[in-house]
Amino acid sequence: MVIVTGGTGYIGSHTCVELIGNGYEVVILDNLSNSEESVLDSIEEITGTRPQFFNVDIDNATQLAAVFEKIGSQAKSVIHFAAKKAVGESVKEPLAYYRNNLDSLMNILVEMERFQIPNLVFSSSCTVYGQPEVCPVTEATPRKEAESPYGNTKSMCEDIIRDTARAQSLKAISLRYFNPIGAHESAKIGELPVGIPNNLVPYVTQTAAGIRKELTIFGDDYDTEDGTCIRDFIHVVDLGKAHLQALRKLETETIRSSYDIFNIGTGKGSSVLELVNTFKQATGIAINFKVGPRRDGDITAVFADTTKANTVLNWKAELGLEEGLRSSWNWEQNYRSKKA
Ligand code: NAD
Ligand code: UDP
Repeated sequence: MVIVTGGTGYIGSHTCVELIGNGYEVVILDNLSNSEESVLDSIEEITGTRPQFFNVDIDNATQLAAVFEKIGSQAKSVIHFAAKKAVGESVKEPLAYYRNNLDSLMNILVEMERFQIPNLVFSSSCTVYGQPEVCPVTEATPRKEAESPYGNTKSMCEDIIRDTARAQSLKAISLRYFNPIGAHESAKIGELPVGIPNNLVPYVTQTAAGIRKELTIFGDDYDTEDGTCIRDFIHVVDLGKAHLQALRKLETETIRSSYDIFNIGTGKGSSVLELVNTFKQATGIAINFKVGPRRDGDITAVFADTTKANTVLNWKAELGLEEGLRSSWNWEQNYRSKKA
């Protein structure tokens, strides 16, 4: 059995589909603070299996301990997605972010030790690299001081896991995701941003749907080929598969403790303008956009060297930007038509 925290969320739900499709029994823990319970119906429609679900605040040690009393002794592994993730909000409410993201992880680690659960996969982020001197970044590229409390929670969580794996029986992997986009091909699960999206792709699909008037491209005077920022956009289905490979690696290791880090991206940088143009190729819809000023804290360019994940995890991104954008658009349309 695998315990998946944050399993009704965007990346968690896609990972649950991959896990179930590969024969894993999945139990989801989520407090639905940024997701909907109906995601369980969608996972069941896609896979034919409804995962067991506990509505629990992982931040609350007593609540979490009560859930682990029920399932902890059957679990072999934990994938820990649950976290608050809005960068701007974290700047305004740092304590809420430190409390939620750090306490949740520490509560999970305590329960894993109590029930002798050996394997942990953790959601980290390329945000730990900040503005890198050289691209692509490898796992050996030094981390930079975080641009936001959110980013800092990722660095701090990585360190907490590393230190815990040194001190007790724990095999752990941190996956540093680059920019997740896309949705399952069924269009039954996808990203559900609350309010006005901060991220590029939901803003693009909402503009295409007529919910937003126009996209603002934040700056076209960067030192890149077309002047807009460069990111590594990784399809969420590929991302889900990376978790499966990470879990397989941990489950076959015979040592008592280990800790490792992997970049999970495509290895290819694409600019913001390129993404807008690719959206038109993929869907036939031209996005209304204007160029505005740079957004504070944005990194000029970051993309992954994925050699380590390719060789050690035997994982490689298979889906490209066009597939990611087409699936995001299908999801946006399907979600709106269900809500209408
Ligand atoms: P999401 O918000 O869709 O999913 C996170 C889930 O965790 C939500 O369902 C939310 O309800 C739940 N949650 C939050 N706090 C909780 C708590 N205290 N108790 C129980 N449940 C709680 O986010 P996502 O995009 O799926 O991200 C998953 C993980 O990946 C997060 O750790 C995030 O920081 C990390 N990550 C995301 C991105 C991205 O761009 N989406 C990039 C890098 C890393
Ligand atoms: N971006 C943009 N307009 C938007 C949202 C994002 O131009 O409405 C740009 C942003 O400046 C960055 C890229 O798109 O260069 C990716 O931003 P996102 O917030 O999706 O992810 P980040 O890389 O910041 O985590």
